Amino acid sequence: MDKVRVRFAPSPTGPLHMGGVRTALYNYLFAKKHNGDFLLRLEDTDQTRLVPGAEQYILDALSWCKINIDEGLGHGGDLGPYKQSDRKPMYRQYADILLEKGHAYYAFDTAEELDEMRQRMKNAGVPSPQYNSVVRDSMQNSISLSADEVKQRLDRGDSYVIRIKMPRNEEVKINDTIRGWVVVNTNNLDDKVLFKSDGMPTYHLANVVDDHLMKISHVIRGEEWLPSAPLHVLLYRFFDWECPAFAHLPLILKPDGNGKLSKRDGDRLGFPVFPTEWTNPETNEVSSGYREEGYFPEAFTNMLAFLGWNPGTAQEIFSMDELVESFSLQRVGKAGAKFDFDKTKWFNQQYLRSKSGDELAELIHSKIPKSKDADGVFLAKVCELMKERATFVEDIWESSQLFFDSPTEYDEKTHRKKWKEHTPDILKKVTELFGGMSDFSAENVEKEFKSLLEENEWGLGMVLPTFRLAVTGKGMGPSMFKISELLGKDEVVERIETAIQKLS
Ligand code: GLU
Repeated sequence: MDKVRVRFAPSPTGPLHMGGVRTALYNYLFAKKHNGDFLLRLEDTDQTRLVPGAEQYILDALSWCKINIDEGLGHGGDLGPYKQSDRKPMYRQYADILLEKGHAYYAFDTAEELDEMRQRMKNAGVPSPQYNSVVRDSMQNSISLSADEVKQRLDRGDSYVIRIKMPRNEEVKINDTIRGWVVVNTNNLDDKVLFKSDGMPTYHLANVVDDHLMKISHVIRGEEWLPSAPLHVLLYRFFDWECPAFAHLPLILKPDGNGKLSKRDGDRLGFPVFPTEWTNPETNEVSSGYREEGYFPEAFTNMLAFLGWNPGTAQEIFSMDELVESFSLQRVGKAGAKFDFDKTKWFNQQYLRSKSGDELAELIHSKIPKSKDADGVFLAKVCELMKERATFVEDIWESSQLFFDSPTEYDEKTHRKKWKEHTPDILKKVTELFGGMSDFSAENVEKEFKSLLEENEWGLGMVLPTFRLAVTGKGMGPSMFKISELLGKDEVVERIETAIQKLS
């Protein structure tokens, strides 16, 4: 096999949806798995749909996801430029080849004439009229008009487009790596415009020409492009070029499985559909992104990898290198993949837990007010303890306040239910016990605390909740013995004494 070269070819018509990121990811994984190249090409032939900021967004989002580009937009390479509008002068010659070979023709029809044709066909009972091999004979084009007339029109500079001349009644076969053989009869295909009156190619022509010139070996893209594949295959044939392999990825579905996941689903159900935050330049509407919501890029891409692919084993946590190692198009399914937001959070939680206290301390350090003057070793221990109950770094910080400030409020329910008349006396005994201890490690605190309870025949359920309430102000949380060790003896004793005064 020639060198594997794949490309991600987005159009800058808005931010990248997570489906787009998944397409980029699968291309990247496939390329790396086969020691190939991953290219980024911008398909901006439809200049009317350009959205300012979208190009930069695509670059930034891929970089945040650590989907590294070997060649292409913003990354150089020998086969550029990699933005189709910058390649504009290169395409005409290819349209001319098709004209010369008789696989394409000039069409001079005005917008009114096209409308009229559609109306006529609708009246005749055709639900979705197309400019095709049947209709073309009655339209204004170089097939229906005389050679003289065509020459005249071209000489006088009449506006025209170039259309493909779709053969009649031929079967086009595509061997899709994911779907197997897809067979389409050309009678169901229309004479698509390849070259527009503004001198720009359409997506179809530019896409095929560029994939050929950029030596793309595999076209891996979303299912929505499957209907275009027969046309692309025909273009390769008409040019006498080798066709790349095709793989059309399954859709990402709404959580209930009913239809394609859209931005509206995210708004409605409260999850981002974009990798990073996006501000709509027209409306200034801000759409949240996974980055800003506190997700690790590794968790996000790990989750995306599973939307359509599976490794065939029970393993779910994969580093990017492991994904590269395990990925194959053979294990990408045809059926749409349901998006599961809870699973996305679960992935983040797994990545959070796998980080050491030191790494997490580094991450929350910036969130801590300067006045707190938190020592790094202490912070790392706090993170180690609190990470088990957190999904995001932010959660760790929020639940760690108790290590920096003594409680100002006490959980009302625990107070009401657990704080009894004898509680102050019991807690006083606890402070006395703690005051006399020299080894205040979690294990020792636990041991001494439990023997005090045993000696007095106090149940754990009677003392532990009020002990927690007094020290942390909360009704729940991680081990009180570990919390005690981290706070230190004096602080714990002082907090219990304050609580006795405030709550009795
Ligand atoms: N420009 C197309 C898009 O925006 C790319 C389709 C393809 O990969 O061929 O998705």
